Amino acid sequence: MDLALQDITYCKGVGSKRADILRKELGVNTALDLLHHYPFRYIDRSRFTRIREIDNEEAWVQIKGQVIDYQTVGIGKTARLTATFSDGDDTVELVWFRGIQYIKLEKNKPYLLFGKPSVFNHQYNFPHPELTPLDKVNPQTTQGLMPLYNTTERMKTARLDSKTIYQIILSLKEQLLQGVPETIGMDIVKQYHLMGLTEALLNIHFPKNTQSIQKARERLKFEELFYIQLQLLRQMHRREQNKGFLMTRVGRLFNNFYHNDMPFPLTNAQKRVVKEVQSDLKSGRQMNRLLQGDVGSGKTLVALLCALLAADNGYQTCIMAPTEILANQHWQTLTQLLKTTPVQVALLTGSTTKKQRESLHLQLQNGTINILIGTHALIEDSVVFANLGLCIIDEQHRFGVAQRAKLWAKNVYPPHILVMTATPIPRTLAMTLYGDLKVSVIDEMPPGRKPVLTYHYSLQRRNTVYQFINQQIQKGRQVYVVFPLIKENESLDLKDLQNGFNELCETFPDYQLSMVHGQMKAQDKDLQMQRFISGQTQILVATTVIEVGVNVPNASVMIIMNAERFGLSQLHQLRGRVGRGAEQSYCLLLTKVELSKDTRKRMDIMVATNDGFRIAEADLQLRGPGDLEGTQQSGLPFQLKIASLATDGQLLERARQAAADILNNDPTLNDEYNRIYKQRLDILKQTVANWSEIS
Ligand code: ADP
Ligand code: MG
Repeated sequence: MDLALQDITYCKGVGSKRADILRKELGVNTALDLLHHYPFRYIDRSRFTRIREIDNEEAWVQIKGQVIDYQTVGIGKTARLTATFSDGDDTVELVWFRGIQYIKLEKNKPYLLFGKPSVFNHQYNFPHPELTPLDKVNPQTTQGLMPLYNTTERMKTARLDSKTIYQIILSLKEQLLQGVPETIGMDIVKQYHLMGLTEALLNIHFPKNTQSIQKARERLKFEELFYIQLQLLRQMHRREQNKGFLMTRVGRLFNNFYHNDMPFPLTNAQKRVVKEVQSDLKSGRQMNRLLQGDVGSGKTLVALLCALLAADNGYQTCIMAPTEILANQHWQTLTQLLKTTPVQVALLTGSTTKKQRESLHLQLQNGTINILIGTHALIEDSVVFANLGLCIIDEQHRFGVAQRAKLWAKNVYPPHILVMTATPIPRTLAMTLYGDLKVSVIDEMPPGRKPVLTYHYSLQRRNTVYQFINQQIQKGRQVYVVFPLIKENESLDLKDLQNGFNELCETFPDYQLSMVHGQMKAQDKDLQMQRFISGQTQILVATTVIEVGVNVPNASVMIIMNAERFGLSQLHQLRGRVGRGAEQSYCLLLTKVELSKDTRKRMDIMVATNDGFRIAEADLQLRGPGDLEGTQQSGLPFQLKIASLATDGQLLERARQAAADILNNDPTLNDEYNRIYKQRLDILKQTVANWSEIS
């Protein structure tokens, strides 16, 4: 029978109750689905360990020996079964907390123990080991590499442990040997030296050796990445068919500004990006472009120039920022830059009053306003444009399907889209998260920047740090002091912030201090920010609300308290607030003394480099893509089963290339020859949760 059609319920050892759990927990409906539940690791079952050799909590081991004693402790729900296991020389404790009524132990009978040790009371023990009478041990399972499968709590209560999963999969081996249909064209399998699907599935579950596991994993990873890329690139091709507003003119607004009002010449990178956007705008197709550039690389000016191009062609632009503070700042920057021009800029945020809103709506509808800056309120609000042509999104995560639909509906065609990331993201992540967008990169900083010098101190040495602050303020500089704010415990963090603020006030009685945090009213926050921006206050005490975009060139010192509580890209963002003026800038990271290995690495990287791309890459390596900031909120739209964006970069490049080659010849996948791909994409869309949200 076709494994793809075989209901998991009727597989050996499953039945309706377990099938239900497999469906809910793993999304497994058919026998073939289960074969795509891959082991997460293997143990060498031809090796037997002695108890005294155990030196690691993580490694699975098997030991030959006997139970010399056992007893049940406690009653009812809290009852547990403990046993003493001996290999002849040494003993170790075994313990079971669940299902103890099913466990029948016999003293002085040879057993094979299989399990993962843990430490309790400074001693190793084995919670829930597998004990098999030695004469019942299936010789097959003590040979070679044994796969281990992920299981969930619910699966465990239905006794669907790794071993049971393996047994079910083993019962499908005969059928698998008959072969399953290939899911990638043979030409690609050959070109990229991939293992066939059948062979890969056989080797992933019943490996011959570690090399064959490698090849099998490579094939399955390739397939996973390939279909994501195929979907993204197909989406890109489709979008490129979207009609877009034709903006062919470079007119008076752009030229006058460019030649007369620009405060400084563009860097070469900025010029290149403006040209790239310009060529999109005059293509007649809708632009979908991602602009990557490190903090301080000058994305705002690029955004402004693009908006002027749109205005020259009679179109309005909206610029969307993630926070009110940032929207405000953009508004101020642009208003200032454009003050001698006829270009009209307006601001719309949650704090805009009803009255202001009314007049704003009117001016938007009659086309007086050329550029509208704001938060998400821009699209959520019932804002009507006369002729919206360009939307610039200044944030890291992209917005969802519903929001996009709203934006699309604001004019007869969807507006051109330019997404600007607040901080660089690694290439693998960009190719996956934004794989359907064209990418522009600003890889050059404006001239004359001195790299920020970064140092790491323990909080115990804060007096040294305070002396340094004092010195810098004496020289006329301003200082940020940032405290962590973790959502789960806002009140505690606010207390930290308040205490920190008080301490700083006491330490620096001669200076003026501002404080801002997320719980403040927008008005108060603005007032405090304004005091700092205008130089009335020398020290700004803040939570991460200042993270994105804030621009005070005279502020040259960034102090980050409890830096261990920040992620790498957040630290980099914060550091990006300084180093914006002509003076040498500093970033001081203060942490507690005892640090975990990963935290120490984070601090070391911050001290070692200012390169946002390197930092993003390190962040990905340290934390994995799921935890990366920016992806946390939006989340990767899908879960990778076997491939990793942290380690499979090269494979991802190849998979993307393979997908691109196919689409270049046949963008719609309508060739008979490519039917396999079209069908597979359809299946994935139906079966994989969230797959349809890719793009
Ligand atoms: P980001 O890319 O982080 O948004 P900004 O657009 O805020 O960076 O620019 C950072 C600073 O660099 C601003 O003060 C801006 O005025 C300045 N700047 C931008 N482009 C140039 C340039 N070509 N030459 C000199 N300074 C520039
Ligand atoms: Mg910016």
